Amino acid sequence: MGRIKIIAGNWKMNKNLSEAVSLTQEIIHSSPENNSLKIIFPPFPFIQSVNEVLKNKKGFFVGAQNCSEHNAGAFTGEVSATMLNSLGCTYVLIGHSERRQYFNETNALCHKKIVQALNNNIKPVYCVGETLQQRKSNTHFEIVKSQITEALSSLNSDQIKQVVIAYEPVWAIGTGETATPQQAQEMHAFIRTCMKDLFDASVSDNCILLYGGSCNASNAKDLFSCEDIDGGLIGGASLKAEDFCKIIASA
Ligand code: PEP
Repeated sequence: MGRIKIIAGNWKMNKNLSEAVSLTQEIIHSSPENNSLKIIFPPFPFIQSVNEVLKNKKGFFVGAQNCSEHNAGAFTGEVSATMLNSLGCTYVLIGHSERRQYFNETNALCHKKIVQALNNNIKPVYCVGETLQQRKSNTHFEIVKSQITEALSSLNSDQIKQVVIAYEPVWAIGTGETATPQQAQEMHAFIRTCMKDLFDASVSDNCILLYGGSCNASNAKDLFSCEDIDGGLIGGASLKAEDFCKIIASA
């Protein structure tokens, strides 16, 4: 299909500055050579230092874990996409389930953040996924469809090509319980159908879809070999260079 593979590490609120730099150096040192694109999402204060290490390393990029829906102004504590661009960020996570759960981020808010990112030449990695209760009540497809429709449907054809989608079932994030390759593939295929209905076959075929949720060195290969899975968004296992590099090798 010609889509590139992406392996992305979401460090969440972990590490101090020197640990962040060392981990980045270890990853660079041990990473296998392949055609995958590697993105590291460190906490905001470490973006510049991580980027210094990654600079000019083929296939490696730095991203942010969030951005403001506003351009600039009196929003104490917030970080704008313009600022992230000036730090060298080329990707930003939008709508991670922890932001939805603890900071009440809605699909409408995610839409505004996505537009901010795109206006600043930053590619959004838009996270979607159902809770355990939603899966048990068999509303998971409906939930993911509304997350996609409400945040993405008004983007134009140039904008949508810049968006990466990460399917992360909430029940699999940080729990050690991974979606089976069949469950993940089923949802990824469904997301492609949604993208075809909202946009067109070319957008659907070319859209990069990542799986996230307790992906690790042992299960990555099976997940990434599924037809509609183009790589992974990795939390816990991205905090150890050895594990993260094994996952990169599975791409
Ligand atoms: C995540 O936070 O995006 C994630 C997938 O975490 P974990 O790999 O730890 O489940």
